[in-house]
Amino acid sequence: MQSSYNPSCAVYPTSAQDVSTALQAIRAAKSRFAIKAAGHNPNTFYSSVNAGVLIDLNQMTTRTYDASTTLGTYEPGGQFGDIYNYFQQYGRTVVGARLAGVGTGLALGGGLSYLSPQYGMACDSFRELEVVLPSGQIVTASPTQNQDLFFADRGGGGNAYGVVTKYTVQTRPSGTFYAGNIIYVFEQTNAVLNAIHNFLVYNTDPKASIIGTYEYLGAPSGGSLQLDQAVIMFLVYDGPDAGNAFANFTSIPYLVNTLGQKTYPEVVNMPVPLSTEASRGDNIFRVQVHRVNDTSYSKALQVWSAWCEANKGSYSLSSLEYQPIPKSLTDASNSQNGGNAMQMPSGPWFWLNFLISTPPGISNASYNAIQASFRNMVNSVPNAAGLPLFINDANHDQNALSTFSTYKKLQAIKKKYDPDNFFATYTGGWSFA
Ligand SMILES: Cc1cc2nc3c(=O)[nH]c(=O)nc-3n(C[C@H](O)[C@H](O)[C@H](O)COP(=O)(O)OP(=O)(O)OC[C@H]3O[C@@H](n4cnc5c(N)ncnc54)[C@H](O)[C@@H]3O)c2cc1C
Repeated sequence: MQSSYNPSCAVYPTSAQDVSTALQAIRAAKSRFAIKAAGHNPNTFYSSVNAGVLIDLNQMTTRTYDASTTLGTYEPGGQFGDIYNYFQQYGRTVVGARLAGVGTGLALGGGLSYLSPQYGMACDSFRELEVVLPSGQIVTASPTQNQDLFFADRGGGGNAYGVVTKYTVQTRPSGTFYAGNIIYVFEQTNAVLNAIHNFLVYNTDPKASIIGTYEYLGAPSGGSLQLDQAVIMFLVYDGPDAGNAFANFTSIPYLVNTLGQKTYPEVVNMPVPLSTEASRGDNIFRVQVHRVNDTSYSKALQVWSAWCEANKGSYSLSSLEYQPIPKSLTDASNSQNGGNAMQMPSGPWFWLNFLISTPPGISNASYNAIQASFRNMVNSVPNAAGLPLFINDANHDQNALSTFSTYKKLQAIKKKYDPDNFFATYTGGWSFA
């Protein structure tokens, strides 16, 4: 996604010491740089650089598992699919991406997983981190060492406080899952939204997890069939039998249903990929946050659908994902290490991810116009007060960190670990200003 930028040089460290050496050389040269894990963040210069040094962590792929403690370690290279495959041999997994191809930078932004309703965000399972500070010093961040750094690195954003070169995490059991996609035609739009809402309000089984996605193609509708639209559910149950957990979804007439028993590596390679992965285009994310007890979450769908109709031809694909944040998730988060950098307010609430993918080769003027229009559409539905925007789904201009109740504390931690603004000046990332 960030592949259109051209670094003048790339380094491929294989150890924390290599990262330290690279950072000190970059500092001496006063060069711009970027830190890249798997490069999925769509914000400009977050993991890419023009005329600067790319620190590509992809060679750092050592993983270990200790059966006596059930703790695991992984380095930042590779994709979560590789990490899941490694731990699967022990009947274990880690809390990470819902798609195999996403990288470990996800966990530094919190990390929303199908397992999150049981175990919290990906970062909540961190037990210790090895971090190369902007000074080049290699330190440990844990509940007993550099606790402030350990706090900030659990959801307070990648590439702000240093480079994480090793994650020690609590692994989780990985047995047989019951999971799949259900695809509906556009007529079921409201019925599915009701089912998503009811799931978040009434489901009490944290082993059940869903994503509800609405898709619009920028191409013409195909007449009354409206083949340009689809509603796709991702349903995942941690266990071989989901009981009635998904009954509200299977009872709505559908086109396709792929529910069945799967391993966890199969769950993250669902037959229908998330639109973000499928489009492979120039993708931009935006995020909203809504509570369940007012109508703003459904207003978001109306406003987005109307925008997609009105702007046909200017985008290739747009999607809206409903990501439930149940109380079990926020309880699990807050019960580990005192909670993460978001200090997640008690669920239930929704994070909504808006995606726009633009056609290749459009002019700068058209690109800027359609992005501005998309931004205005998302901004037209106010977010719920007192809830954090999810930085993994946010656009840079949404200034998502400033919505955290802990923002002042994160600003102070940033200042402590990046005292001369080396990272703030020479690489991209979230603003602390
Ligand atoms: C197809 C797709 C699916 C997604 N699915 C999910 C999902 O299921 N759950 C979810 O929470 N999010 C999801 N996201 C959002 C995703 O979490 C973010 O885009 C995340 O930034 C991706 O991490 P990465 O390693 O792939 O990307 P990168 O762009 O390489 O890294 C992201 C940021 O973290 C920094 N960074 C990475 N590694 C380190 C490190 N070791 N030390 C310091 N800084 C570092 C980078 O500099 C960059 O700023 C998805 C995104 C896409 C495009």
